[in-house]
Amino acid sequence: MVSDEYEKTLEAFVLAKNFLTEQVELGFDEVYTQVKTEKSTTLNDFYRQIKDCKKCHLYRTRTNFVFGAGNPEAKLMLIGEAPGREEDLEGAPFVGAAGKLLDKMLAAINFKREDIFIANILKCRPPENRDPQPDEIEACKPYLLQQIKLIQPKIICALGRISAQVLLQTKSALGQLRGKFHDFNGIKFLVTYHPAALLRYQQYKRPAWEDLKLLRREYDNLVHQ
Ligand code: URA
Ligand code: SF4
Repeated sequence: MVSDEYEKTLEAFVLAKNFLTEQVELGFDEVYTQVKTEKSTTLNDFYRQIKDCKKCHLYRTRTNFVFGAGNPEAKLMLIGEAPGREEDLEGAPFVGAAGKLLDKMLAAINFKREDIFIANILKCRPPENRDPQPDEIEACKPYLLQQIKLIQPKIICALGRISAQVLLQTKSALGQLRGKFHDFNGIKFLVTYHPAALLRYQQYKRPAWEDLKLLRREYDNLVHQ
C-alpha cells in the first residue's frame, strides 16, 4: 500500500520538477528558489532576475532593458511591440510620441497608467526600430508569458500587428483580428491598432475608438460585476 508520506513526497517532487522545467524554459541556468505570494514582490523579483538578459543579440545595442511598468494587480494588460528610442533611453515603455497618444486614448476611456500594466513583446530595442526578428521573439517571449502569469490580468489588449500575431500565433492581418475578443489561455484578448500607426494613418482612428469602447465595456463587465 502506498503511504501518505510517500504520496506527499511524490507530490513535492512533481511540483519541484514542474518548477524546474519552467525555469529551464525561461532560459535560466541558475535556479530561482524563493517563493513569494505578493504580486508586486514576485514581479520585482522577476525583474531582478532578467534585467541583465543576454539571451539574444539585442543586449549589445540596448541602452536600457525595458521590463514594462504599471500596477502589478492590474486587471488589464496592454502589450506593445518593442521599446523605441525614447523607451530605450528611459528604460520605460511608451514614453515617446506613441506613448503620449496612448495616454490620451486611455484617458478617453477613463484609465490611468496606474490602473493597468504595460509591457512589450521584446524588452530591448531593435536597432532603428526595425521589426522584431523570429529569434528575438523566441528568446524574449517567455518573459512576457511569465509576466502575464504573475499579473493574471482579466483582459489583454495587443497594440499592433506584431503583438497580436505573436501572442495569438497567427499570420492574420490586423484588420481581421481587431474589433472582437479572442481567447488567450482563458484571458479575454483584444487587438487594436498601435498608437504609432494612429499617428500616421488618420483612417484608423475611428475603428480604434470602437475598439477602445469595446475594451472599456468588457472591463466593466468583468471587473465590476
Ligand atoms: N512602441 C512599442 O511597441 N512599445 C513601446 O514601449 C514604445 C513604442
Ligand atoms: Fe533578452 Fe529579450 Fe533583451 Fe533579447 S530582447 S536580450 S531576449 S531581454
